[in-house]
Formats: sequence, C-alpha cells, structure tokens
Amino acid sequence: MRHVIIGAGISGTTAAEELRKLDETAEIVLIGEEHEVIYSRVLLPHYAKGIVSREKIFLKKETWYLDKNIEWLCGVRCEEIDTVNRFVTISDGREIPYDKLLITTGAEIQTLPYDGENVCYFQTLGDTEHLIARMASCSGRGVVYGGSFIASELIDLFVHRGMSTVAAFRGPWMFSRILDAESGALVTTHLKRVGVDVRPGSETPESVGVTPDDVVAVGVGIAPELGWVRDAGIETGRGILTNARLETNVADVYAAGDIAEFDDLVVGRRVMAGNWPSAVMQGRVAARNMAGANEEFQNVSSYATNLAGLDIIAVGDTDRAASDSTVIVGSASAGGVTQLFVRSGKLVGATLVGRNHDRKAVTDGIKAGLAVGDVKLQ
Ligand SMILES: Cc1cc2nc3c(=O)[nH]c(=O)nc-3n(C[C@H](O)[C@H](O)[C@H](O)COP(=O)(O)OP(=O)(O)OC[C@H]3O[C@@H](n4cnc5c(N)ncnc54)[C@H](O)[C@@H]3O)c2cc1C
Repeated sequence: MRHVIIGAGISGTTAAEELRKLDETAEIVLIGEEHEVIYSRVLLPHYAKGIVSREKIFLKKETWYLDKNIEWLCGVRCEEIDTVNRFVTISDGREIPYDKLLITTGAEIQTLPYDGENVCYFQTLGDTEHLIARMASCSGRGVVYGGSFIASELIDLFVHRGMSTVAAFRGPWMFSRILDAESGALVTTHLKRVGVDVRPGSETPESVGVTPDDVVAVGVGIAPELGWVRDAGIETGRGILTNARLETNVADVYAAGDIAEFDDLVVGRRVMAGNWPSAVMQGRVAARNMAGANEEFQNVSSYATNLAGLDIIAVGDTDRAASDSTVIVGSASAGGVTQLFVRSGKLVGATLVGRNHDRKAVTDGIKAGLAVGDVKLQ
C-alpha cells in the first residue's frame, strides 16, 4: 500500500506517524512545501517573544523521517492531482503515484495590497524570523492590522516587548465576527488599559498613518488555496468537503486539518476547525481510515488566546450567522462575558472573554447537546 500525504504540517506529519504505527511495511510519502522539519506554529509567538528558543519549536529531529521510513519530500509543492490514474505532480516535475491520498495543505494567509520591508505576516517560521528582525531594528511603533486570533497574538507580542502598540482593524471591535458588543467592549477597554492605541473602523494600515520606522504586522485571516484541488474533481466549499470520516467525494482521497470542511457530528453541520488539536486528531483519524478503519472524527474544538492578560476562548461553532440566537452571561463592567450560541434549541458554541471558568461547562454542554438552560455556569 502506498500512502501519499500532501502537506507536511502537523496534520500531515501526525497522519504519517500514525500510518507507520499501523503498518510497518506501507510506503509513506510526505510532501511539503516548507524546508524545515515539522515545527510548532503554536510556539511561534513564544519564540518571537524570546521565551522559547529556536531549537525548542521543532517537534521532530531531521533523522526521524528516515528512522520511520517516511519518504519526506521537502521544499516541493504539489501542483496537480490525477485522481483517475492516481498520481500527483510536484513542482520539480516528478509524478508520485498513490493508492491512498491525504490532503493536509492548511490555509494561506490573506495578504494586503500594501508592501514594504516593514510589513510582516505571522504564519511560518520564516515570517517569524522576519518579524523578530524588524522588531529588533524598529524605532517606531508596532502597528497591528487585523481583528483575528493572529492579530491578537501580534498585539500581545508587541505589548510584551514594551513597544508602543496600535491595534487597527476594520470592525467596531476586535473579533467582531464572533464576539458580541458586550464582549467586544471588554476587549477594547482592556486593550486601552494596557496602553494599546485602539483604532476600530480602519480600512487599511495606512489609515493609522504608518511611517517607515513602524513595524506593520498583518493578521487579516487565512483561506485555503483550492483551485488545484477543484481541478482534480474534488468537491470544495470554503475548504475541501469531507464527511465525518474525512473522506472526500473522490474514492481514496481524504482531507484533514485546516483545509478540511468536515461534517462535524457534534454541532450538526459542516465546519472548518482551524486549530492545532483538531489538526492533530484529524490527521490520526484520516490515517486510521486510510489504513482500513471506519472511524468518525468527533471533537468539541476550541481556540484559546491571551491578549495582553485577557483570556479569549472560542469553543465549538461560533459562526453568528449559523446560530438561531445568542445568550450573554456576565458583563464588560464585571470583567467577564460569555456568549452562548444556540441552534435548534441546543448549545453549539460559545465565546468566553475573561471567563475561563466556563470552559468546561460549555464544552461538556456542547458535547452533550444540552439546552442553554441546562448548562450550569458559575
Ligand atoms: C502564529 C500562529 C499561532 C497559532 N496559535 C495557535 C494556538 O495557540 N492554538 C491553536 O489551536 N492553533 C493555533 N494556530 C493554528 C494552528 O497552527 C493550525 O490550526 C494548524 O497548524 C493547522 O495544521 P495543518 O497541518 O492543517 O496546516 P498547516 O500547519 O498550515 O500545514 C500545512 C502545510 O502544508 C504545506 N503546503 C501548502 N500547500 C502545499 C502544496 N500545494 N504542496 C505541498 N505542501 C503544501 C504548507 O507549507 C504547510 O507546511 C496558530 C497558527 C499560527 C500561524
């Protein structure tokens, strides 16, 4: 059996590791665009802060691939999939045949039509090292543009480094796609309290008057690149569409991690997870199914960040447009707000700002499909 995995990030690498555990003799090919050994993206902010050394962010040694008899093709991009003749074409022109194929290519960062040496993104190790170099030579402010989790990491980083920090974003408050006005007010008040210059309604980074001395760090979201997948006849929506077993519409082709738009059995609709634990777990489930199991992925996903001392957590399905109603618990003035997302009478998601203590109750409530009234918050 020949397993080919496209994308050597955490989901793909976990899948390769799991496949080797399940089958000592299978051929496993792991194709990745990046040159580095697998590293933790979650640790990149800690590396940028100087809390974690460069060597600590790597999750495997270079010899690991050889030891596990995993053929690791690094620094090459998969460009085409032929699902009829079962091979993929990579950027150096080689054609790699497969029996089972897994796509774990994650998502690409959205860029702005705004360029310059002082503009930084935050997705890869290379981005992080560029950011570190810019911060070291910066004599101006740290200007963060964007209102998402990555923007939050960037603000946290600049505040941690003691830089004069600007938070500029389009919406009325940060995380306005998922947070209600009360939660948003709490985030804004907190940012101002720690000295951040908060600029809502900013259409571009330039609208805050950027100078060449500033570091401009952009975190305006990610989106998967799907053209080459679609060309192969694989169904896509916002990501690659899969069932709960992470199978696509094409036989023996699977998707996992940030690129998968999977049938989420917990919340009852197709979603994209976009977080590290789900990418790991999906890599494992996809691998087991490639090896012949019939396993469904089930997990209440969550993403937690600490924004300069304020904990912000999203649990389950936090798409406001896909919920029937929301319930707010707590208040900005009390220092904590939990927003509960309800669909068909059941709790499907929650955002917690300054209310970590609700995390277990909402996670258990989502898992059990409880009505909001049955979720016991403190
Ligand atoms: C700075 C930062 C901090 C984060 N912090 C957290 C956190 O605290 N908690 C959390 O849960 N999540 C966090 N995340 C998100 C988390 O890292 C992702 O959800 C996770 O990495 C997704 O794993 P993946 O394997 O699906 O995709 P990725 O990690 O994106 O890996 C995909 C890989 O595929 C490669 N690739 C893409 N296209 C091709 C192609 N055509 N051919 C070959 N290779 C290709 C890419 O180069 C990449 O190496 C953070 C992300 C970043 C960037």
